[in-house]
Amino acid sequence: MAKTIWFDTHSHLQDKAFASDRDQVFQRAKDAGVEYILLATSNIEDSRVAAELALEHQNVYCSIGIHPQEAGRWDQKSAQFLKKIYRDIGKKAKRLGRDNPIKAIGEIGLDYHWDNDPREVQKFVYKEQIRLANELNLPVIIHEREAYQDSYDILEWAYNNGLLKDEPGVSHCFSGSWQGAQRLIKLGFTIGLDGPVTFKNARKAKEIAAKINLEKLLLETDAPYLTPEPYRGKRNESSYLPYIGKVVAELRNAKIEDIAKQTLINGKRVFSIK
Ligand SMILES: [Zn+2]
Repeated sequence: MAKTIWFDTHSHLQDKAFASDRDQVFQRAKDAGVEYILLATSNIEDSRVAAELALEHQNVYCSIGIHPQEAGRWDQKSAQFLKKIYRDIGKKAKRLGRDNPIKAIGEIGLDYHWDNDPREVQKFVYKEQIRLANELNLPVIIHEREAYQDSYDILEWAYNNGLLKDEPGVSHCFSGSWQGAQRLIKLGFTIGLDGPVTFKNARKAKEIAAKINLEKLLLETDAPYLTPEPYRGKRNESSYLPYIGKVVAELRNAKIEDIAKQTLINGKRVFSIK
């Protein structure tokens, strides 16, 4: 039987939580069949670190961008800095004979749970980074927490202004309703599900996992956060992705290999990976 291969499309293995054993964490992911990983990022420094790390590993990719919880760090030069990272890493990759590992702009969006910065600032930075994604022809990774309608309005604005790609990206760790997911899918987005789908009380995530068109689903660990059962409470890592896939398979009465296979295809499609 062919080996089951997974794509963790949202992981933070560049995080200091992995400082002491990062190599083993990458190895364990590989051993678990999680052969593709996309490192999601939160600010300019984090973007640079993740991009350098991605260059060191086969089938490891990353985003660049400023997280809504850090929106206050955005200034007029931020887009220039991010573009410079994109160009510099692209040149380095070329010398190594590989594709630029930077495959998305993210995490961008709105976080009204923490509300670290004024909502108007968050919205401005969100829109600026959608424009940047358009300029670089990259999809976006959206982080939206307790801000569904405002985020949707901005994405609809982007859609109506031709700023979104045909595969515009993913609404990461989606925590909204089935109807909310459907509206985003109509704009072209995929839906990312994470560890919470394995939690008993995750009614909405389980409903989405069960009913969604499988071509519109991505699986993410968000490591080191949101650890799935049976490791809930411990540090998360990419090798745990199959536990999320297993629950999705059970909810759909599907084979786990088919979930792995289709979500890998989806991840490659959304992030333009050959
Ligand atoms: Zn994340």
